[in-house]
Amino acid sequence: MPVTPTRWLAEYAWLPEHAEPTPDVLIEVEDGRITALTPLLAAGGPPAGIEVLRDATRLPGLTLPGLSNVHSHAFHRALRGRTHGGRGDFWTWRDQMYAIADRLDPDTYLALARAVYAEMALAGITCVGEFHYLHHRPDGGAYADPNAMGAALVEAAAHAGVRLTLLDTCYLTSSVDGQALAGPQRRFGDGDATHWAERATAFQPADPHARVGAAVHSVRAVPADQLRTVADWARDRQAPLHVHLSEQPAENDECRAVHGRTPTALLAEHGVLGPDTTAVHATHPTSGDLTLLGESRTGVCLCPTTERDLADGIGPARRMADVGIRLSLGSDSHAVIDLFEEARAVELDERLRTRRRGHFAPVDLLTAASTAGHAALGWADAGRIAVGARADLVTVRLDSARTAGVPPVGVFFAAAAADVEQVVVDGRVVVAEGQHLSVDVPAELSAAIEAVTPA
Ligand SMILES: [Zn+2]
Repeated sequence: MPVTPTRWLAEYAWLPEHAEPTPDVLIEVEDGRITALTPLLAAGGPPAGIEVLRDATRLPGLTLPGLSNVHSHAFHRALRGRTHGGRGDFWTWRDQMYAIADRLDPDTYLALARAVYAEMALAGITCVGEFHYLHHRPDGGAYADPNAMGAALVEAAAHAGVRLTLLDTCYLTSSVDGQALAGPQRRFGDGDATHWAERATAFQPADPHARVGAAVHSVRAVPADQLRTVADWARDRQAPLHVHLSEQPAENDECRAVHGRTPTALLAEHGVLGPDTTAVHATHPTSGDLTLLGESRTGVCLCPTTERDLADGIGPARRMADVGIRLSLGSDSHAVIDLFEEARAVELDERLRTRRRGHFAPVDLLTAASTAGHAALGWADAGRIAVGARADLVTVRLDSARTAGVPPVGVFFAAAAADVEQVVVDGRVVVAEGQHLSVDVPAELSAAIEAVTPA
């Protein structure tokens, strides 16, 4: 199929290594890749005179690289706004989450995930990491295709027009001391890590928008002597490896009681940490944990709006960055799907903790929301507006009620997901004029959530 080269003229574009956006950037795209970039002011005009601009499509506002949502559980979106009636904590919220998990099958999950991923596309998210553990039937038995639920997620991402890293999650036990899965958790389990690896190996989606990585659910859910099986599976494939880490003080206490060390130390001992590993949350690390994460070049995915929603606490983002930990962002439970909100929370939460301002520069927030996140999901050629990179372009309005009068560099402190005007993924327009081109997002969300919500 012949591919027409495309020229976009961005009013502002945020280019790699630049502290702030550049005005008037001509972005040329062919076959899903950026082939040329010309900042017109710096170049003294367009490369071949004004002619080259005739067929360029203007992009008013600020064009960012595609945003990356590193940590998602798509089905949690069905809980939004339903868990605020009483008191409780992470653990009482989890019971409500399990009630939804119990009601999903490959068809209802496809419908729900398609709508959720399309909501992400509307928010400028071009790539999502799905931390997937709803593998089997509610009673724990396998579907005819043991990867039917994962396949539904891959298909959902294709419908929504976003790329997906399916992080196939090993989930074997319900506590650090190895208690068996029970009730709604039964469908998460593969018996042991060897059986998990067999199933994960069998799942090889051919779709160019998807790739498979691995996840250790947490030190609660994978026995210490089986951690290395998951880590080796990922390492053999040079695939991303993710793990929930120290989201709750209770997890740290249990791990110390059973293993005599912190969850981070346990993961280090069993080969889970490393440059292709992303620890999700890491809200309650010790100083020693931060050293282990930094020295092993493990990344951390912060999920500030979920951590806020679940009363988890505030992760020490600045201390992490200071020991060389690469930070990325995820919307996790989807209490909010807005990477601008996640990004500014990294700075604003530090302000609340320290009562001082100025911990992260705007470009640091952009990097966490784009380049670092794509790398954590195994798409190193995305998340930058650069020649050769995937043509993921997210254009944000600078004339909305929220962004009017805001300098482009201030967009992460002003914009909301609703200010995303256009989204291009791999050179293809997915969102135009603030609307998804193939999914009626509000209608599909309503129907899909109603279908899985307990009466
Ligand atoms: Zn999670």
